[in-house]
Amino acid sequence: MRNIILFSLDTLRASSMSCYGHKHLTTPHLDALVSNATLFESCISPHIPTHPAHTTMFTGKDVLTHQVITQGGQVNLSENINTLPELLGEAGYFTVAADNLGRWFQRGFPDNQYRGYQWESRYQNARKAEAVNKTAIELLDLAQSQDKPWFAFLHYWDPHTPYLPPLPFERMFYSGDECDPNNRSMDAVYACEPFTDYFRQWMCKPDSDAPDNIEKKRLWTDINYVNSQYDASIAYMDASLAQLFQYLQDNELMDDTLLVITADHGEELDEHELWYDHHGLYQTNCHIPLILHCPDVIPKGQRLDGLVTLKDIAPTVLDYAGKSTLSEREKMEGTSLRTLVENGSDDGSCDAIYLTECGWMKKRGWQTRKWKLIVETGGTPAVYNKPDIELYDLEEDPDEIYNLAEEAEDIVTQLKNEMDEFLKRRLTETGLPDPTDEQDITMRRIGDKSKAVPLP
Ligand SMILES: [Zn+2]
Repeated sequence: MRNIILFSLDTLRASSMSCYGHKHLTTPHLDALVSNATLFESCISPHIPTHPAHTTMFTGKDVLTHQVITQGGQVNLSENINTLPELLGEAGYFTVAADNLGRWFQRGFPDNQYRGYQWESRYQNARKAEAVNKTAIELLDLAQSQDKPWFAFLHYWDPHTPYLPPLPFERMFYSGDECDPNNRSMDAVYACEPFTDYFRQWMCKPDSDAPDNIEKKRLWTDINYVNSQYDASIAYMDASLAQLFQYLQDNELMDDTLLVITADHGEELDEHELWYDHHGLYQTNCHIPLILHCPDVIPKGQRLDGLVTLKDIAPTVLDYAGKSTLSEREKMEGTSLRTLVENGSDDGSCDAIYLTECGWMKKRGWQTRKWKLIVETGGTPAVYNKPDIELYDLEEDPDEIYNLAEEAEDIVTQLKNEMDEFLKRRLTETGLPDPTDEQDITMRRIGDKSKAVPLP
């Protein structure tokens, strides 16, 4: 029963990390860790955003079983479904969490062992990861002061909006004038109705002599600056993670502790006109990192292709804890990745993945290694202006630019049939309603469905 740390790096898309090939050196410390770890090239978050994704991560089950399909929705996780911290507690683990999700995510952590954190969101000064580290190190000290094996859940938020990385990271990937009045590249962003107010509050440079004077603020006009702030937030988080890794090193925990490093979902920047948030079932949101580090048992420098998903995290952790009987008892739908890791296999844990979102938009999707089908379900506000059916060839068009739905109708039909058969089978297995049919989107003010206005 080895010690385990599960890192959830909220809103971190794989493609923006240098260890996944990003042009900017955003994650040098994670990259160094990867050289002693096994990295999964194609890990998918099937149910976005934060609440559904973490529920899948914690239960090893899909949305048709756990029914948590929206962000901040009315449906709570059933008490009959045990979460990973509860199961590890049952197995004799001491459990701690640095997290502020609350709700069912605190199940399995005794009161004093589930702790939040706070940070300031000021321009050039959002030091989120250092706030998490402070709580995390207190908890890891506590965990080491007792005799049981321990599990820690550490939840970082730096790549989440508003991106306000501290100096000097803010300038790390940008050297222009972010408020150049002649630059029109942000016009479409500020015109995006659901987010107009939010963007105008966030995307501006305060006057250095009067930082609280709203009249004197200057809006950012260069879209490259906003994109660079996402990368800079990742670089800042990466540097802060180095502090935590050094703590593990100093306490001789680095070699035999299992580190699972992943994200709940990614982020849309300027790719599909869904600006600076995590909605849309595109790879920007669904393709997340997954790194397993434990030099005692995990092969070093190994990169595995093949589809795996967030569903696989809980059974994998239980397997390395020596408790795979618990994932069998709980009928987890994910698969332990241990065999893939030990065999160096690119087979992945599945051939196809059912995708959902029901926060701002209400879509479902079906992803194979080659194809991505995205289908409108009738609940998305018209303001998003997306086609009802989208089909992308992920091998030829990994950025999902060219919608092939009209020219490849046979592929659409085939994938739709596969998705429908999957749904039919799963609904029979669960005996529960389809949450996409049953539940409404949550990320708008109640009222006119044609408009989507961010909740306060
Ligand atoms: Zn999230």
